[in-house]
Amino acid sequence: MIACDCAVCLSSDPRDNRLRSSVMVESAGTRFVIDTTPDFRYQMLRLKIRHMDALLFTHPHKDHIAGLDDVRAFNFFSQKPMDVYANYLTEEALRRDFYYAFSDTKYPGVPELELHLIDKSPFMIGDITVIPIEVWHLRMPVMGFRIGDFTYITDANRIEDSEKEKIRGSSIIVLNALRKEKHISHFNLREAIDLVKELGVPKAYFTHISHQLGLHQEINAELPEGIELSYDGLTFSV
Ligand SMILES: [Zn+2]
Ligand SMILES: [Zn+2]
Ligand SMILES: [Zn+2]
Repeated sequence: MIACDCAVCLSSDPRDNRLRSSVMVESAGTRFVIDTTPDFRYQMLRLKIRHMDALLFTHPHKDHIAGLDDVRAFNFFSQKPMDVYANYLTEEALRRDFYYAFSDTKYPGVPELELHLIDKSPFMIGDITVIPIEVWHLRMPVMGFRIGDFTYITDANRIEDSEKEKIRGSSIIVLNALRKEKHISHFNLREAIDLVKELGVPKAYFTHISHQLGLHQEINAELPEGIELSYDGLTFSV
């Protein structure tokens, strides 16, 4: 956090040094990123990503969409618009916040986007089937996604039973756990642990972690078997 002198912000452990939450999903033939955070450009540079097939969005909060403008480099090299999958709430925000990409008289070099409106129906991106899971972020519906046996859920504090059914049977879940204290729109650590146990998912990584949660090494050591804090650069295959 800018201007913070807490133990996490001053930590020399790279796992305490976090950019905003996002995930890249790859199959043999397809690659997409879920959410373009304000750090999207640096995340792409850091991994030297040269091609992107699509972008998916969970919800319109700024820490999940702000980096979209930097899709321009992918447009330039692929010579085509980027496929963007978003629900109605996020689409509305993208059209407002990135109005210049949707104007009739576009300035040269603005992002080129091909919007695909999604709801709770499954859809395909290349050879990957994506099943949307609607979760609640206080009063805002947020899209989680199940991709094969992998489930990704960020920015939630409540999931309805019917949507929990879509998660059951996953082998890995990435789930938001903000801090230990209660929060109005995010699961805290206890709630996230309880949910993983309730869902019976054998492996969980917690994401969207605040500096208020504490040092990675200390908190990770307190977690039950099968549950770990995620960190920037973590990769796994499902
Ligand atoms: Zn701090
Ligand atoms: Zn949010
Ligand atoms: Zn967020």
